[in-house]
Amino acid sequence: MIDIKEYGGEVWVYLGLGSNSGDSEVTIRQAALETGSFLREMVLSSIYRTLPRDDENQPLFQNAVCTGLTRKSPLELLMLVQAIEKKHGRRRDPHRPKGPRTLDIDILLYGNEIISRENLVVPHPRMTERKFALVPMLELDPLLKEPGTGIFYAEYARSLEAQGIYYISLNHYSTTLSWEDRAEGYGSKYGNKRKQ
Ligand code: AMP
Repeated sequence: MIDIKEYGGEVWVYLGLGSNSGDSEVTIRQAALETGSFLREMVLSSIYRTLPRDDENQPLFQNAVCTGLTRKSPLELLMLVQAIEKKHGRRRDPHRPKGPRTLDIDILLYGNEIISRENLVVPHPRMTERKFALVPMLELDPLLKEPGTGIFYAEYARSLEAQGIYYISLNHYSTTLSWEDRAEGYGSKYGNKRKQ
């Protein structure tokens, strides 16, 4: 992790993006671009197709992580990401809190800070059990360590069970292929099995 002081007050942050309703890939790419207004040198990971957890009877998710440098405070950052979620119509069924959503953005890491407030907990408390957050984040920096403990996030990822994380190449995006075509191309049995 880069020391905050070295960057004149700027902090590295990692945001987790997820969607399984609407055109998820477009939503994630647009949302990441929008974070560019407050994240300098924003980089987006590849987008992964992932099996839903908790509430399993719903379409596959697409997940990615973006990172960049910001001068925003943690709470300002939370407001900004929530504004992006809202812009993309973060529709949810109140009876299914873990159900389908157009866009969900989590603050995974805010530099080395440990934040424990009523409305903001960072590092994100469930990230170490979620490969859909860890795998794209580790693609951006395989040597990231957990603030406080110094444990490599790669160690957490390695110790987790298989969770159904399918790589979708960022650079081979084609508007002419459906998700199902592309999933088949990558040999994902779930891509077809779960087709609604
Ligand atoms: P969810 O709808 O499950 O994504 O939860 C959103 C709520 O989680 C918001 O009200 C946030 O205030 C709260 N929250 C707590 N910690 C975080 C975090 N690290 N990133 C995003 N939201 C958070």
